[in-house]
Amino acid sequence: MDLHLPLLWQIGQLVVNEPRGLVLLRLILMGAPGSGKGTQAELLVEQFGILHISTGEMLRDAIDHRTDLGGLVEPYMALGRLVPDHHVISVVEDRLGQPDIEAGFILDGFPRTLRQVYAMDELMEGQGLTLDGVIVIDVSEETVVERTSGRRVDPETGKIFNLNAEGVRPPAEILSRLEQRDDDSEEVIRQRMASYHNETDPAVEEYAQRGQLIRIDGSAAPDAVFDELRRRLESVEQGS
Ligand code: AMP
Repeated sequence: MDLHLPLLWQIGQLVVNEPRGLVLLRLILMGAPGSGKGTQAELLVEQFGILHISTGEMLRDAIDHRTDLGGLVEPYMALGRLVPDHHVISVVEDRLGQPDIEAGFILDGFPRTLRQVYAMDELMEGQGLTLDGVIVIDVSEETVVERTSGRRVDPETGKIFNLNAEGVRPPAEILSRLEQRDDDSEEVIRQRMASYHNETDPAVEEYAQRGQLIRIDGSAAPDAVFDELRRRLESVEQGS
């Protein structure tokens, strides 16, 4: 295959010719809490059949299952602080060591610090892989607070809805079973935003300097953001 063709053109060919997924799409998705990165990740997964790896979800899972890791990370997450690098790095290391990532992945919520960026470099290098792109979704702090206060999760399907955002409101029949994340209160969100600016901005800047960053305006409705994301991915060329 000619690796200099636009990435999505190749994906189109692969989906047609190789329905079992030889798509080698490896993306990182960054963005403040409430930027819509979880929703965009779901859309990417639906459209391209790649794996969604969310560190936030894996950590919440560890807490729900009362594992040792869950006990260690819970106090940080409850306060809206980042979990110490070594815990998250080892979770990602385990996950990226599994064979199903060969079909491509979208890594949602990692890296979030410079140290995690360097750990990710080592992980990818160790496996002889390269990234196709790093997406960052930008939104204002007001939008973040408005969206996160309306965010609800369906515990049965894991699907994310929003009471305050067009296009992602939940259907009336499931309203009563929806749950709010503990770390979506306004106070915790302000702390999560502060962590984002202090610790994640430098990680975003590092990818920008490497020329790997795809910056997307996340203020529009999810479908419009996704259209823009697709359009931008069309000009990305696939790595090895
Ligand atoms: P998320 O679901 O991505 O918003 O993550 C929820 C919470 O999990 C964050 O506020 C952090 O406490 C923790 N977390 C998730 N990913 C990371 C990471 N890469 N580094 C440190 N903490 C993380």
